[in-house]
Amino acid sequence: MTDRVEELSRAFERFPGIGPRQAKRFVYHLLSTSESDRIRLAELIAHLGAEVRQCASCLRFWSGTGEVCNYCSDTSRDDSILMVVEKDQDLLAVERANAYKGRYFVLGGVLTLAGKGHIRERELVDRVERKIRNGKAEIVLALSATNEGEHTADRIRELLTPLREHITLSVLGRGLSTGSELEYTDAETLFGALQNRKET
Ligand SMILES: [Zn+2]
Repeated sequence: MTDRVEELSRAFERFPGIGPRQAKRFVYHLLSTSESDRIRLAELIAHLGAEVRQCASCLRFWSGTGEVCNYCSDTSRDDSILMVVEKDQDLLAVERANAYKGRYFVLGGVLTLAGKGHIRERELVDRVERKIRNGKAEIVLALSATNEGEHTADRIRELLTPLREHITLSVLGRGLSTGSELEYTDAETLFGALQNRKET
């Protein structure tokens, strides 16, 4: 018979940052909860695909109706500035800081120094090209202050080189200390880093 504990453990091990011991803890935690709680959790997972969609413009995941998300459809936001973030959680951190009222683009990852990782390169270039049709735009690279973040920023600079005369490219300013990930940066620091962003 299939060992369900092992099977579910292995499924959890595929989650980012989860090792075999933590995966087992999750499984035994689930075994200690009520059956109705487990069914509810299974339903939430099953409905993710149907009810959470990807915004056609910034590519973040959101629950709602329509082609584009609330940030992309909000006409009060500044259309001349586009912030590039690594992942959805970073976008949410910037929103929490309440320091930015422009548009977003989610890269969907970072590039590692070892040449691994994937970012939405073609989608980013398309997005910037569409943006500059309405005039000059500022592109803010809001990536983590890590080696991967730096490396990814270099690649984006390279990708956007042909469009340089139509864009101002900036990076987050001081305040974001080396090694810090955007997602875990407090609102005040993020606010400062955005205010002090500098052209690159
Ligand atoms: Zn959007």
